[in-house]
Amino acid sequence: MVSPPEATSTPPRRRGEGQWALGYREPLNPNERSKKDDNPLNVRSRIESRYAAGGFASIDPADLRGRFRWWGLYTQRRPGIDGGRTAVLAPEELDDEYFMLRVRIDGGALTTEQLRVIGEVSQTYARDTADITDRQNVQLHWVRIEDVPAIWRELEAVGLSTTEACGDCPRVVLGSPVAGIAEDEIVDGTPAIEEITRRYIGDPELSNLPRKFKSAVSGSPRQDVVHETNCVSFVGVDHPEHGPGFDVWVGGGLSTNPRLAVRLGAWVPLDDVPDVWHGVVRIFRDYGYRRLRHRARLKFLVADWGAERFRQVLEEEYLGRRLTDGPAPPPAVRDRDHVGVHRQRDGRYYVGATTVAGRVSGSTLVALAKAAERAGSGRVRTTVHQNLLVLDVPEAQLAALRSDLDSLGLRSDDRPWRRGVMACTGIEFCKLAIVETKGRAAELVSELERRLADVGSDLGDPVTVNINGCPNACARTQVADIGLKGQIVRAEDGRQVEGFQVHLGGGLGLDAGFGRKLRGLKVTAEELPDYVERVVRRYVEQREPGERFAR
Ligand code: SF4
Repeated sequence: MVSPPEATSTPPRRRGEGQWALGYREPLNPNERSKKDDNPLNVRSRIESRYAAGGFASIDPADLRGRFRWWGLYTQRRPGIDGGRTAVLAPEELDDEYFMLRVRIDGGALTTEQLRVIGEVSQTYARDTADITDRQNVQLHWVRIEDVPAIWRELEAVGLSTTEACGDCPRVVLGSPVAGIAEDEIVDGTPAIEEITRRYIGDPELSNLPRKFKSAVSGSPRQDVVHETNCVSFVGVDHPEHGPGFDVWVGGGLSTNPRLAVRLGAWVPLDDVPDVWHGVVRIFRDYGYRRLRHRARLKFLVADWGAERFRQVLEEEYLGRRLTDGPAPPPAVRDRDHVGVHRQRDGRYYVGATTVAGRVSGSTLVALAKAAERAGSGRVRTTVHQNLLVLDVPEAQLAALRSDLDSLGLRSDDRPWRRGVMACTGIEFCKLAIVETKGRAAELVSELERRLADVGSDLGDPVTVNINGCPNACARTQVADIGLKGQIVRAEDGRQVEGFQVHLGGGLGLDAGFGRKLRGLKVTAEELPDYVERVVRRYVEQREPGERFAR
């Protein structure tokens, strides 16, 4: 276990927040107790030695609903439980005997061999399910505990893992999907991501954080890792004296108390990114609030301290040196999602293709690996927009690859609604969900493609519609043009039905800010296509020249 850091001169908050650095070492809630009782990473040996043989019934509940997450495992929602009962049922009533398994894909970087293995694992052990998440991971469903050791063996044989894919620990490190190949890249963050994951993922010193810790590194001027929403982000910037490096942002996060990250005003060269990342994560471990789960994210500490004090503590207590002051990155250039055909700096091309709200299948991933290899590529990327890129394609292979992608339902042409619509897991598998999301997203995309075919390129940037099954905002409710938060609403005839609270006009990059949650602006799930169509048509008819949807 982590030894308590030295107490500092920082005065304690009036009510203890459970900060280790201030001497609060006794667990203040059951989650903290569970982590103190046993390092969650230790659960792997119990899965391999006991639970896989003993089956679901043999699993200790504290492992099942707590420590399993450190290895990417969540119980699925039992089928047939409607969203109105989510909040009233006990966890064991919501649990199915099957698991979601999250495979972490740091930087979104996969070889075609790795992609094929994920697909084959899905076909063999996960009923051919696969979802690309908006954090560049792949999630499989219907996994049995009996199969988990075999799945780990297959994934780990090709360098993949589920280590700390969930839980109160450092989650996947987001990265630019075009790192190392883009013509307009400021700096390639790949070595930093590789070093962070090599040194620190699975490190027992960092496996008991107050809550999840989200990271991102991108040296692309397109700012393609939603850096404003991460606990720590490194954003590519050219320093006038020191050259290419990264601007450090901390304290972003959405969920029920959204906050955008703030800049520390510090410039960090590529080689120093892992050390600075390590300093930030240790501040979170030592000073993060542990009393209340809903206040335990880094964003609350950053909000209380402010950027200046955070940087001072980072420099004085964790790095032992001053950081270099640096400029803000310029506003992001367009096309953050990389969809379409783009030239790489080595003269080859990458092809970005849309999924429908991340839903693919194991068979699709296997077929995609084959198609990419036929086109001469050995590398694929996932994106924070739930899409996929095939890299390193010679010009002569582009047409054949795009035709293969089309036949797999992966579209590389400009389809604004496939580009714009995202969805979280929702009621199909998520125990916290109130409404269905992925299926609704698919219906919405096909309805909007049909109804708004005449609008097409008039939209400029695709209008983003982020569909979330509950207030947790896993699909970034507050930063979409049209953000949808699932809840039970009243239909015109008085029935209680699935629907959404609408947040209008949020955005990232140039338009960074939260959507307005208009009181009473709720739509039933059934009305959703009508509502989006109405809003978009009004926008197209009434906008001023140069006006953007978000603000
Ligand atoms: Fe589940 Fe809610 Fe997150 Fe959707 S937003 S995946 S329903 S917790």
